[in-house]
Amino acid sequence: MIVDDKIENIISLTALLEDIENINIVTSTDPNEALKICWKEDIDLALVDVQMPEINGFEFVSFLKKNPKTNHIIPIMVTAISKEDKYLIQGLNSGAVDYLYKPLNPEATIAKVKSFVQQLLIQQEIKEKNIALEESKQAILKAKEEADLARKSKETFLANMSHEIRTPINGIMGITQMLKNSQLSVEQENWINKLDSASQNLLNIINDILDLSKVDSGMMKLNMESTSVHDITDDLNNLFIDKANYKGLDFSIDVDERITSYFLTDPLRLKQILTNFISNSFKFTAEGSVTLKIQLITEDNHSICLRFQVIDTGIGIVEDALEKIFIAFEQGEDSITKKFGGTGLGLAIVKRIAALLNGRVFASSEYGKGSIFSFECTFDKIKDKPVEKETQVLYTELPKFNFPMILIAEDNELNSFMLANILKSWNCDITLATNGLIALEEINKKKIDLVFMDAHMPLMSGFEAIKEIRRNANPIIANMPIISISASVLQAEQQEALDAGANEVVGKPFDPIKLYKTIDTLLSKLK
Ligand code: ADP
Repeated sequence: MIVDDKIENIISLTALLEDIENINIVTSTDPNEALKICWKEDIDLALVDVQMPEINGFEFVSFLKKNPKTNHIIPIMVTAISKEDKYLIQGLNSGAVDYLYKPLNPEATIAKVKSFVQQLLIQQEIKEKNIALEESKQAILKAKEEADLARKSKETFLANMSHEIRTPINGIMGITQMLKNSQLSVEQENWINKLDSASQNLLNIINDILDLSKVDSGMMKLNMESTSVHDITDDLNNLFIDKANYKGLDFSIDVDERITSYFLTDPLRLKQILTNFISNSFKFTAEGSVTLKIQLITEDNHSICLRFQVIDTGIGIVEDALEKIFIAFEQGEDSITKKFGGTGLGLAIVKRIAALLNGRVFASSEYGKGSIFSFECTFDKIKDKPVEKETQVLYTELPKFNFPMILIAEDNELNSFMLANILKSWNCDITLATNGLIALEEINKKKIDLVFMDAHMPLMSGFEAIKEIRRNANPIIANMPIISISASVLQAEQQEALDAGANEVVGKPFDPIKLYKTIDTLLSKLK
């Protein structure tokens, strides 16, 4: 925009600037009209004559600066009045950014305007980039939201799947155990053993997937206990000695003699890490040895740092693969899956659990010669001895109950059949119900001493049935001991059962010994 009350000035200035690239020139001899144009059009730069009638250049610039619609315009004063400081300052105060002096020096004028145009172009570019940046920020936020949603639905999916898949597997495994204890021909025994190991494998895979999602969603809880290295090695030795004999491998455990103290850890998870390493070593070693070596790295009054290494003479791992094997679903070589099977989940879980225990895992290997898998961790030392472990007893050998009437409300026939079988071995009388409604009818009809209530059942869920029982007018019924059966490993579902009014929650697969203790405690409270 060129504003000058004298048309000849406008003509000469326009002629001077015409050839500059990327500009359009709008002119006016009337400052009022020029203000309107600035208001309506997209003006970037204004060359403003200082001495004009009605509105002088300084006033013109102040108007531009006051109006939010025009305050972005860069004003340059064009003046014939002297270069005295007071005019200069007045112009700058009103918002002008520069001065051109009449008579105009053509080169200086062109250079000045060009440099402002250049500045404007850069500003324009920055604006566009800012818009693009803002757009990509929005896109990232949206993608994050979608990823969060996807993660949540993955968790829900896994929780539901765990329930749906574990329930039938528990059935299969329970019946398999019962068949194993029945009269079988040698051939049948062989079939059952195969069925047993296949279902155990399936359960392991499902447990692995659940473990992974539990760690990832922060739901894996550690049970810290006082432990000694020998507790760990005894269990591992029992677990693998048969396998070593079967595969003809030399399995040994070599513990640094200086390790004598008890320390605090989650023994189950520590064993899970080592079991994974050792199982892999057995899997990938055809001849030679598998050694678990436990070394003392450092020790002071409060803590002890140990390195657990599983060393094998197996097929080894190529160098490139060493890093990726700790990533979920990754295996050393594609051919491995075909030859040895596996899901590639074991080490991914191990790495996460190691981090939970504040330790780290790493591997080294020589392809074709063997591998070393290590877990290194600093533990807090404990002065007390660990709690003595109970010796294993067969559940059928536990003392019998005095024929209590137990109601099993469970829609899965296989599960209720198995549970009934275990309970009958302890002299319990059994009533069965396949949903919450039938359970309520039975409770009102018969004298029931204790109820097992599955969470998910048709018609009336276990939680609703429990709430109904607790509302019963008869205090004997309302206070009846109720054990909720949950196939879900999720804490939330177990809490829901307790909130509904269950006394205890037992998870599937049933651990008969725990089951016995729970029943025993609840029944003895009734006496
Ligand atoms: P999976 O064994 O179920 O495939 P893992 O996560 O336990 O899953 O192991 C990932 C991969 O790491 C294996 O498929 C194998 O390629 C490699 N690996 C693990 N342990 C060993 C070992 N001791 N010797 C050779 N390769 C191994």
